[in-house]
Amino acid sequence: MAEPELVDVVVVGLGVGGEEVAGRLAEAGLTVVGVERDLVGGECPYWGCIPSKMMIRAANALAEARRVNELAGSAQVQPDWAPVARRIREEATDTWNDQAAVDRFTGKGGRFLRGSGRLDGPGRVRVGEQVFQARYGVVIGTGTRPSIPPIDGLADTPYWTNHQAIEVAELPERLLVLGGGAIGLELAQVFARFGVRVTVVEAADRVLAVEEPEASEVAAAALRADGVEIRTGVKAERVSHDGTTFTLHGGERSFSAERLLVVTGRRAHLAELGLETIGVDAAQRYLPVDDRLRVTDGVWAVGDVTGEGAFTHIAMYQAAIVVADVLDHARRAEGGPDASGTASVVGGAMGAASAVGGAMGAAGPSGAAGTVPRADYRALPRVTFTDPEVGAVGLTEKQARERGINVQVGFTPLSSSTRGWIHKTDAGGFIKLVADADQGVLIGATSVGPAGGEVLSALVVAVHAAVPVSQLRHMIYAYPTFHRAIESALADLS
Ligand SMILES: Cc1cc2nc3c(=O)[nH]c(=O)nc-3n(C[C@H](O)[C@H](O)[C@H](O)COP(=O)(O)OP(=O)(O)OC[C@H]3O[C@@H](n4cnc5c(N)ncnc54)[C@H](O)[C@@H]3O)c2cc1C
Repeated sequence: MAEPELVDVVVVGLGVGGEEVAGRLAEAGLTVVGVERDLVGGECPYWGCIPSKMMIRAANALAEARRVNELAGSAQVQPDWAPVARRIREEATDTWNDQAAVDRFTGKGGRFLRGSGRLDGPGRVRVGEQVFQARYGVVIGTGTRPSIPPIDGLADTPYWTNHQAIEVAELPERLLVLGGGAIGLELAQVFARFGVRVTVVEAADRVLAVEEPEASEVAAAALRADGVEIRTGVKAERVSHDGTTFTLHGGERSFSAERLLVVTGRRAHLAELGLETIGVDAAQRYLPVDDRLRVTDGVWAVGDVTGEGAFTHIAMYQAAIVVADVLDHARRAEGGPDASGTASVVGGAMGAASAVGGAMGAAGPSGAAGTVPRADYRALPRVTFTDPEVGAVGLTEKQARERGINVQVGFTPLSSSTRGWIHKTDAGGFIKLVADADQGVLIGATSVGPAGGEVLSALVVAVHAAVPVSQLRHMIYAYPTFHRAIESALADLS
């Protein structure tokens, strides 16, 4: 067996979270080995956020152009997928090549290794024949992969996951989307706007089932207006493929299309990480972490694998905490002062100290300057980039009631705001607020509209900073903005 090589930190999985942690620790002067088996950057830049939002940008341009006839004269719209596919290939993914990302990491002083990493005892990581012993810690940022439901026949068919949907160069005529969550709806609307006949099949009784029911209604109506057929309450039981056509059977119904996109959630693959060698149960859905993202002594996790929310902004938020905590741990291990001190004895001493400072800034007010910040997910924002956008933060009304909170709810349709009326928000939209009446603060909010994700930011601040509702009521809201509807929703709180 190869002799373990001593390094400071090993980061397994260089997706959004892992790449950020590895790069910043390397910049701080630690010897960092970053292990990635696929593409550095992970799901977000190659098959997730960025290419899907390029697709959405293009699809929304078509939708806006189609409104010219109603608002501004006449326009003929001829959708063409080729520029979208080209933009994703050339501008977003460099034809799914991560050389620029690898260079970015090694340029910061990191050492890159292509392969699958696996824990091999405390502080030890094996990558093929190579074994590394980490002096200060191991960071797991291995993300998730699509969760494929055990539907009879499905595994034997050439179904799509988000990878094939993002890489598609020529659109099918008909598409079945299994799963009416955020990713399913975003992609369904894009393809429908480009002329694909799309059917969304969802087992729950509504799409976007984790969000407020009113949001589900608006999203479903908007997609239907784009020609998407939405079938809820359908439990897929069997899938077949005859060489050209997929048929999905559920109850009495069956649905057919040339392509089947499966977007029924994502799951972490803990069994392949060697967790048993450090005494951690691998038979869990996600890797449990504390509020400094520690799995166990000397092992941190970051991003989707923690199950705290499958969003790039969560991975980045957590990465800042991990960087601060690993550097603090390294300083203590070397007998230096903790994060509240100013000196550092770790290699690249001043760099390390300044990286901690940087991490504090990025992690936000949950960590006071000079301390390792703690993760706080109360004000976790989430946006579904359908048109209209569905933005949400904190608790839904149902979640708040289930927690026994004395709930007040405020609601206003966007159409009753001046801007909503001017804009002709016929696809719907609203602001819904969930307040804790005893504390006098917002604990959740949903903002649905043409700029629902942007309007959300004000509500995220309110929930995050626990701004008293009485103060929110006496703010000045610019006229005529979409966010001015927040004032009406506040007035409706009861
Ligand atoms: C279609 C789609 C759209 C999305 N849109 C948004 C959006 O608009 N906004 C948003 O915030 N989020 C969005 N997301 C979610 C976002 O992509 C993820 O939250 C983010 O990528 C998580 O980053 P991560 O670092 O945790 O994991 P990943 O990005 O999944 O990266 C993990 C990496 O680890 C590697 N790996 C796994 N196991 C090993 C191993 N044993 N050894 C070595 N390497 C390993 C993998 O190859 C992968 O590169 C979207 C996701 C999808 C699928």
